[in-house]
Amino acid sequence: MKRGIPMTASNDRPGILLDRDGTLIDVVREEESGVLSVAFHPRQLRLLPGVVSGLRRFAEAGYALSIVTNQPGPAKGQFSREAVERTNAALVEMLAAEGVSIECVEVCLHHPSGGPGGDASLVGPCECRKPKPGLLERVIERGRLRRESTWMIGDSPVDVLAARAAGVHAALVFPRSRCELCPLLGGPPVAPALVDEHFDALARAVVARSGAADAR
Ligand SMILES: [Mg+2]
Ligand SMILES: [Zn+2]
Repeated sequence: MKRGIPMTASNDRPGILLDRDGTLIDVVREEESGVLSVAFHPRQLRLLPGVVSGLRRFAEAGYALSIVTNQPGPAKGQFSREAVERTNAALVEMLAAEGVSIECVEVCLHHPSGGPGGDASLVGPCECRKPKPGLLERVIERGRLRRESTWMIGDSPVDVLAARAAGVHAALVFPRSRCELCPLLGGPPVAPALVDEHFDALARAVVARSGAADAR
């Protein structure tokens, strides 16, 4: 889903590139089976604590907000591409209702090996699946973002690696209580600039860090 992005002459806008699952919204647990998945229907959307206040904080500090998300479900035959688009659109609307404007959502629908019943056109290598920087590059280019003042906010090492590859800063939401899906159990193997358990506390730290950098 794409929104109008004001064009300026040079890349001079600070941006926040947001991972979706585990960063903005919670994973979904099936009551019966206990199986965990990512949200693929609007009614499964649950914003994580501190997300709205943190996003408002970023917007007030002048950052352009975008989402960059790997969604290999359609390639793996788990749900449709339309389900991904509908869910993302609902998330953007949900945030808009809270006064938070998301400029654009860039999605990688690919998966290297796919799965049973998956959309074959989405299976194979690509340049956009994080930890590759393709999604981030698209947002940076279209939004005319300045890399030195842009942050990737995620919850996984792939977010940090993608940020590094795109030449932007990385910060991770890392709730110590989380375990089931946690790729960072025992600490992140690739260190982001900032880590916090809580999205809003992390946002405050990012804004503080950037303000200090601008003042130098
Ligand atoms: Mg994530
Ligand atoms: Zn891709």
